[in-house]
Amino acid sequence: MIIGGGPVGCTFAAQTATFTTVVVEEHAEIGSPVQCAGLVHPRVVEMADAQDTVVNTITGLRLVPPGGKALEVRSTETKAVVIDRRKFDHKCCERAVREGADILEGHEFLGFGREGKRLSVKVRGPEGPLTLEADLLVGADGYKSRVGKIAGLGPAKESIRGIQVDLDVRMEDPSMVEVHIGQRIAPGFFAWVIPCGDFTRIGLGVSQAGGPPSGHLTAFLKKRGFGGADRLRMVSGVIPIGPPKKTFGDNILLVGDSAAQTKPLSGGGLYTGLRAARWGAMTAVDALKDKDLSAKRLSGYDEKWRADVGKEIERGLLIRKVFANLTDRKMDDVCRMLDRPDAKEVLATGDIDFPSKLASPLLKTVPTLVKFSPQLIGTLIRREQR
Ligand SMILES: Cc1cc2nc3c(=O)[nH]c(=O)nc-3n(C[C@H](O)[C@H](O)[C@H](O)COP(=O)(O)OP(=O)(O)OC[C@H]3O[C@@H](n4cnc5c(N)ncnc54)[C@H](O)[C@@H]3O)c2cc1C
Repeated sequence: MIIGGGPVGCTFAAQTATFTTVVVEEHAEIGSPVQCAGLVHPRVVEMADAQDTVVNTITGLRLVPPGGKALEVRSTETKAVVIDRRKFDHKCCERAVREGADILEGHEFLGFGREGKRLSVKVRGPEGPLTLEADLLVGADGYKSRVGKIAGLGPAKESIRGIQVDLDVRMEDPSMVEVHIGQRIAPGFFAWVIPCGDFTRIGLGVSQAGGPPSGHLTAFLKKRGFGGADRLRMVSGVIPIGPPKKTFGDNILLVGDSAAQTKPLSGGGLYTGLRAARWGAMTAVDALKDKDLSAKRLSGYDEKWRADVGKEIERGLLIRKVFANLTDRKMDDVCRMLDRPDAKEVLATGDIDFPSKLASPLLKTVPTLVKFSPQLIGTLIRREQR
């Protein structure tokens, strides 16, 4: 049984549906409310076979430091696409149903108990409370993960509060995403401007110490010249950063945001979550076949996802530690140092799912960057060589 009908829960379900698989989703409709900027690498769309959810293609980045002198990086390749996240979630759900999973929408997971080697799972649906039986309980229930809480796994090391608004504005250059950094603009994280075809999505994330994100968004909209634009819709949400030590227990797996499998530098969680779902489903299918749902057996999932996307998450956490503490002046310095053709050429090779891979080539190109954190850079290079 999978708790959470988000993209990760539904993708997990599609891959385990040879066994009886039920997805329990508290909302009446999968994919709503949306809590996502929808910016992903095209590989994510391929993984979900969701090409028809793409609303725009991105080939470049404008990185705007606090001092305002933007660094522009352009590429001839598609670097990212913007997806209609509601439609994307629907696609993931349809696939799960096609493979044979049952979706229980409008049912809230309340808790679970143990009965021998099985679990009794309590949910509340429109008709009242229900108790269901399960061999395996998968927590794909997002950053608040009740499954994780009850199982004693989690929480994430940190959480970023995000807020964004869709404005009735068309960007002049729809191929460029803007990223604005600065401790006053978006303390501990960054702000984004994403062209989405007919409209533009503007948002930001703020670390816990940064205060309420709504005030920062109002100030940013004004600063960026969008203060008077018509608002189409507003979204807020939380991005968990830094996975817990363990993402499994007896009869339990955590996957996606519930396991904080997000990229610490961007907050993106779709690629990492879908990859982890694949490892989780493979482990689950083998364990169900062998009727061994012990923590020891399920620990294989933890090893597999950490050996895959976990490496990038670890490196991202290290870089984030330095980034989150940079002063505005230092951010300006870094951007100034990168604003040269050879460094921009390196930046143009970047992949949004593997941002830390830029560290080594950038240092080779601009060796003076080492002064910002010699210790971090040594660690990153050693880890890359592993
Ligand atoms: C502002 C913002 C912008 C973002 N932008 C991007 C981006 O551009 N690109 C990107 O890759 N990622 C982005 N993310 C992250 C991305 O949205 C998540 O990583 C992704 O949604 C994780 O998928 P999931 O299936 O693990 O969790 P979710 O999508 O959160 O799904 C969890 C599901 O579980 C359900 N649930 C929770 N509790 C219960 C319960 N007790 N009972 C039943 N159901 C329950 C919820 O209703 C929900 O449907 C962003 C996040 C935020 C907040």
